[in-house]
Amino acid sequence: MTETHTGTYEVVVIGGGAAGLSAALVLGRSRRRTLVVDAGEPRNAPAAHMQGYLTRDGMSPAEFLALGREEIARYGVELVQDRVVDVTSGFAVTLAGGETVRARRLVIATGLKDELPAVPGVAERFGRDVIHCPYCHGWEVRDQAFGVLATTPLSVHQALMVSQWSKDVTLFLHTVAESGLTDDDLRRLAAAGVAVVPGEVAELVVEDDRLTGVRLADGTTHPRDAVFVAPRPIPGTGLLEKLGAEMQETPFGAYPVVDETGLTTVPGVWTAGNAMGFAEQVVNAAASGYRAGATINGELLMTDLDTAP
Ligand SMILES: Cc1cc2nc3c(=O)[nH]c(=O)nc-3n(C[C@H](O)[C@H](O)[C@H](O)COP(=O)(O)OP(=O)(O)OC[C@H]3O[C@@H](n4cnc5c(N)ncnc54)[C@H](O)[C@@H]3O)c2cc1C
Repeated sequence: MTETHTGTYEVVVIGGGAAGLSAALVLGRSRRRTLVVDAGEPRNAPAAHMQGYLTRDGMSPAEFLALGREEIARYGVELVQDRVVDVTSGFAVTLAGGETVRARRLVIATGLKDELPAVPGVAERFGRDVIHCPYCHGWEVRDQAFGVLATTPLSVHQALMVSQWSKDVTLFLHTVAESGLTDDDLRRLAAAGVAVVPGEVAELVVEDDRLTGVRLADGTTHPRDAVFVAPRPIPGTGLLEKLGAEMQETPFGAYPVVDETGLTTVPGVWTAGNAMGFAEQVVNAAASGYRAGATINGELLMTDLDTAP
């Protein structure tokens, strides 16, 4: 860290993905002394394309973030590539590099991590022909032969959803017991034309750098072009928990309790993007970061006016 990153910032933004950069942009344009600390591991890094962001549909995630970093620099926002390892109330923010900076307000936009099913082939192909989100990748693989690797009862819902993008869908039950499927599940799966295959999946078959099938433990192989998986989300909420933010359990992990601006139950601490909720796509993450940044600017202004001598 250089000399320019010392001292007290009005706002420190932890995490420089879509959410954090968007918060930083509005804060910089509001003339707030702002520092972004980013560990440089955005969630969608495995994907070559980012879809569904109006005017940016198909852009590479790396290019999107590079443009965002350029934009915040225009307004004097500082960015350091490092990891925040500790935050104390007040706020003192300690970086892995050893330095500590102070902030009046925090935006915690640390995203989430995807814990992938431990099936050989899944991690290697994730973001390519092993995918998790039909809104991110469904169009690109439309009408292909889909497999859905069940690892949770919610995988039935995933199989039903992806049938919107292909009429050739097979649900591999893998670790989900056939007896666990409800009558409603079976009726909907049949109505959607989804084939159901019980039995453990041993591996994905890859030939010439392309997914070609799903092999079961009994040795049978089912030709498939794309496989949907349901990674277990690990919310990046450690710093929020450390600060004492109230959390709420969801089927996709525990996320902070927030108001409509992303303010957590800790005064002065906002959150945005996937650290705030599982379902935040890039465009939502950017929007929530923007909302947090604009709210902080107004709140700082009023605080300073109210305490002016
Ligand atoms: C394979 C894949 C493909 C996807 N494709 C799409 C798509 O096409 N369209 C779409 O809308 N969404 C897509 N998504 C979802 C998308 O990744 C998220 O919506 C988006 O990344 C959320 O932005 P964020 O800013 O909240 O988090 P992130 O982009 O994950 O950014 C968080 C940042 O915080 C940093 N960080 C974490 N902890 C710390 C710390 N302690 N200190 C400092 N920095 C820290 C991380 O390193 C990271 O750089 C995809 C996801 C995956 C997994």
